[in-house]
Amino acid sequence: MARCSLTAWTLDSREEPVIRVAMVLPEDGMDSILLKIPSRGYLVSGGDGPGQMFRSVMAKVTVENRRVSFLSEGGVAGPAEVIKVSPEEPVPQTRGVGVQLRGVVAGRGFHWEKRIHPTVGGMLEFRASHGRLVVVNELPLEDYLPGVIAGEMSGDCPLEFLKSQTVVARAWVLAHTEKKHTEYPVDRCNDDCCQRYHGTTDLTERAVDAVRQTRGQVLIDRKKTLIDANYSKSCGGIIESPQHVWFVQKAGQRATVDAPTDSEAHRFFPLSDDLLMEYLTGDWLKQTDVFCSPNVVPEKSLPSYLSKIDEGGGHFRWRVDYDRHDLEKILRDKFFSRQDPSKVAFLDTLLGLRVCQRGDSGRAKDLEIEYLDPMGVTHKAHVVSEYTIREVLHEKFLFSSAFVLEIQRDPAGAPRRISLIGGGWGHGAGLCQIGALGMALRGYKYEAILKHYFEDVQLHECY
Ligand SMILES: [Zn+2]
Ligand SMILES: [Zn+2]
Repeated sequence: MARCSLTAWTLDSREEPVIRVAMVLPEDGMDSILLKIPSRGYLVSGGDGPGQMFRSVMAKVTVENRRVSFLSEGGVAGPAEVIKVSPEEPVPQTRGVGVQLRGVVAGRGFHWEKRIHPTVGGMLEFRASHGRLVVVNELPLEDYLPGVIAGEMSGDCPLEFLKSQTVVARAWVLAHTEKKHTEYPVDRCNDDCCQRYHGTTDLTERAVDAVRQTRGQVLIDRKKTLIDANYSKSCGGIIESPQHVWFVQKAGQRATVDAPTDSEAHRFFPLSDDLLMEYLTGDWLKQTDVFCSPNVVPEKSLPSYLSKIDEGGGHFRWRVDYDRHDLEKILRDKFFSRQDPSKVAFLDTLLGLRVCQRGDSGRAKDLEIEYLDPMGVTHKAHVVSEYTIREVLHEKFLFSSAFVLEIQRDPAGAPRRISLIGGGWGHGAGLCQIGALGMALRGYKYEAILKHYFEDVQLHECY
């Protein structure tokens, strides 16, 4: 059946689109990839001609100048601008079924970056860009979603959680408000910058069921606007407003407390600077019923609910300690060396850090760095946005920007040790994944979960 492309899709289309997911991008620096074609037949075509059937072979696709070649014991294809590997029959939604891609990057640039070997259904397309490999997986949206659900969190999570995760993942893709990777012929990438997609690698029957039972369902508001439903791992207790993350308002999203309506946690909302330390470290945390807290989702069970990619635990409240010299090195590498030296002087000695602006969840969105340049002149520089703050304050990536600073100084007043005492994991806007899991564990149905995280919304079947 011919389906429309994701870019052409609108709420009035009333049909399931196909999605093109980048599995490998030029920034991954790959000029070849190994793939394992299973016993079911795959048609491999490149350039002119009808193509050739392959089964049960290992193959290698390599970039040569601006073209790609497919090499295997069973035959070759290309060099051609595009090589397509298409299944003879639709690939079933079963764990581990499909073509295996070896050495795909997961967690690009984040602290959890690794190489994985996912299996994928649908069609694969290989091409070259800037002398590097681009691999695209094209498949119907409803076949893509189980691979997201089982990649973002474990496919063994409670069904009602998986259903809520499916609806937000589908709504986010279909709303298509953030244009990413526009220089390539793809809709989304396979990774955290868009949504995680691991193909059929970790599929469970429950993940497939969650997608089937919510087929075509998205969230809309009263004006029938499709909700661009963001989500992140753990809000830390208060859901962030999209305004403080992306500097835009989004229909259906707002700041709120991630707890039952009668929870004690409501005393922290709105969260003032005076309340922040108590919110992040107070004794109330021992008893709290905040949905993403360890009281609702115990730390010891968390790894079984997270994706295999994530190292679980310690996300709800955390602490990072630096010696001044270590933090100075990180700031030089990740911030100062990337600034225009005619505008921002280079950092020699760190004098202090101060959060100038925070969002509703305590997430810093403007961080001031006071420092001496190599000539001994004092300067101030600002790091703006929760994302950049998380990027420049950690060798890889900080859990969140909801932190307070504790600075120990030597007798001369220079910082010696800098501690970040924080809460939450991710930007915190929209659905809180660990909180939604907590709600499902407490018996909430997926519709109630969605209505807790999004305001004034209803479920809508768009095809
Ligand atoms: Zn992406
Ligand atoms: Zn939460």
